[in-house]
Amino acid sequence: MSESDDKCYISEMKKNVYIHTFGCQMNIHDSEKMLGILEQEGFTETGDPNDAELIIFNTCSIRQKAEQKFYSELGRIKAFKKKRPRVQIAVAGCIAQQEGKNILRKAPHVSFIFGPQNIHALKDFVSGKIVSTALEDNPEIEKTDLPAKRVDGVRAWVTIMYGCNNFCSFCIVPYTRGRERSRPTDKILAEVKELAARGYKEITLLGQNVNSYRSNSNFPELLKILNRVGGIERIRFVTSHPRDLSEELIAVMGDLPRVCEHIHLPLQSGSNKILRLMNRGYSFEEYIQKVSKLRNKIPNISITTDIIAGFPGETDDDHMLTIEALKKIEFDGIFAFKFSPRPGTKAGGMENQLSDGLKSMRLIQILELQDKITEHKNKLLEGTFQEILLEGESEADRKKLTGRTRTNKIVNIPWIEIKKGALISVEITKGRKHSLEGKLLVQDLKGAVDKKGKI
Ligand code: SF4
Repeated sequence: MSESDDKCYISEMKKNVYIHTFGCQMNIHDSEKMLGILEQEGFTETGDPNDAELIIFNTCSIRQKAEQKFYSELGRIKAFKKKRPRVQIAVAGCIAQQEGKNILRKAPHVSFIFGPQNIHALKDFVSGKIVSTALEDNPEIEKTDLPAKRVDGVRAWVTIMYGCNNFCSFCIVPYTRGRERSRPTDKILAEVKELAARGYKEITLLGQNVNSYRSNSNFPELLKILNRVGGIERIRFVTSHPRDLSEELIAVMGDLPRVCEHIHLPLQSGSNKILRLMNRGYSFEEYIQKVSKLRNKIPNISITTDIIAGFPGETDDDHMLTIEALKKIEFDGIFAFKFSPRPGTKAGGMENQLSDGLKSMRLIQILELQDKITEHKNKLLEGTFQEILLEGESEADRKKLTGRTRTNKIVNIPWIEIKKGALISVEITKGRKHSLEGKLLVQDLKGAVDKKGKI
């Protein structure tokens, strides 16, 4: 028996899966669902691709960079597959949906591909019932109640809707994830109750545009229903479309104690001309009005956003309008990216594409300005008391513990024996660019003492 035969023999006894996830939170949660399904099929997750019998690339096509990274990983794994022919290589996610069988033509070492709407088919692939692709865009067959293997233990993500109807001119999502479909309210409620029973403290409701959730309830009504689930201390949601942010939702956010004081509200540009070209459906003035309403109702709310630098046709003046918008609104944080032309989107084919150098220069200006704003806002929190939900040891410094405020800011505190998932009060001692430092207020501990009486 050769070395490779030997490994294949071993693989029949144990089945490990390695999932490489690219992109957004939606994809991370999709990978959790894949793991949930695979666990039922006898697989165990491994962090080492060399130890895996199944390797899944869960891809993202929202930006060119993530796509290039995936293709280079896929090329690299070819030699590995040659040495271990019985290892299955799968491609999932948005590139799988978009590229379809082209992937198999380009990379014959891929065993099967499936799109985000066909995760349930994974079971049939690994059991050998389907042997090629599962990409059909058919909401009838989409299964929304897939088991998820959640890894965090404290915070869980719950999909409330799939797809998007908005067709922003730069975005590939409506093509890869299909039209909007909302999950029934009772299914979401049952999932959240189960998470509470398993000890989860925080849920984040996921959807491309959660504001347009509509099933047996609308989105504000869904929040009211979930706010009543005992054990869940914090409710968050992403992503909100500014056009669909209703007065009713703002009121509910302010009134419900478990809904956190944070909203991610993508602005994308401060220029009305560019917003129109992006097909965003709101003007800068309308956006500002919504921000004012949010801040009036919830004075300590943190607002984060997405900005695209260098959209086709963006002039220096348009760029300056974005810079002015950042100064005026003072976001708590932003995710900013260079415009990335995606094949198949309207903006991908627009004339007046900007050079990479110009896009980079504008992005740097945006990020440098926002870094100063974020640091300033974080410094204003020095000396305040914040409730944080402990997530565990800080990855950057094992001598520290890390958690988040209700406003979604990361706080690091000196290490102390304290259980993950505890809600504790801390005094903020230092505001930094990307995080806060704090110290524990022992007298104000809430639920932080474990069963053995340790703090
Ligand atoms: S709202 Fe626009 S950017 Fe967001 S997923 Fe839908 S099309 Fe894409």
